[in-house]
Amino acid sequence: MLNIVLFGAPGAGKGTQAALLAEKRGLVHLSTGNLLRQEISSGTATGKIAQRLIDNGELVPDGMVIGLIREQLEKHANAGGFIFDGFPRTPEQAAALDLLMEEKGMSVSAMVALEVAVEELTDRLLKRGRESGRADDRSFDVIQTRINVYHRKTTPVIEYYRAQRKYHPVDGTGSVEDISERLYRYIIHL
Ligand code: UDP
Ligand code: MG
Repeated sequence: MLNIVLFGAPGAGKGTQAALLAEKRGLVHLSTGNLLRQEISSGTATGKIAQRLIDNGELVPDGMVIGLIREQLEKHANAGGFIFDGFPRTPEQAAALDLLMEEKGMSVSAMVALEVAVEELTDRLLKRGRESGRADDRSFDVIQTRINVYHRKTTPVIEYYRAQRKYHPVDGTGSVEDISERLYRYIIHL
């Protein structure tokens, strides 16, 4: 079983690459960002809390995203593996994921980090905002907050997986195909 954490800053290309990898390797793609947006469009209690935080570029509480992940692992109990996109976003979430995986008799195989320079991230997010209309990609201030939150709260997740010898950085620049090839070449050995 292959369980990959796909890590990277906002705009690093996690969603695009996770979808390609899921397809190639027959994995279930779990994006907590997408799950939260579904909660918002369904108007659930979780969605209402998430909406305000997402609009401000802040993280939703650890317990909330862990709950969503638990639900998905149970829903896809027969999956051949998972690719976690945009989760865990804090070391506490990473520890909770390990516990949850252990409870289900699984484990994280590797954490692959897409590396992209910060100037390029902002450009990519503003472009996505113009094309997709995602509200949190349209405001320069919200983008700045998200990148700051990433540096402050999310980058410690790297140390968490480094300590487990599961951290593997990959160059996140170039064409979608080139990046996908780099990821694939690494994952094939797991
Ligand atoms: N978010 C969160 N926890 C998650 C996933 C998403 O708090 O596990 C929130 C956060 O406010 C983030 C927004 O949802 O800025 C959008 O997340 P997504 O992963 O879709 O954006 P990306 O990082 O790919 O630009
Ligand atoms: Mg994404």
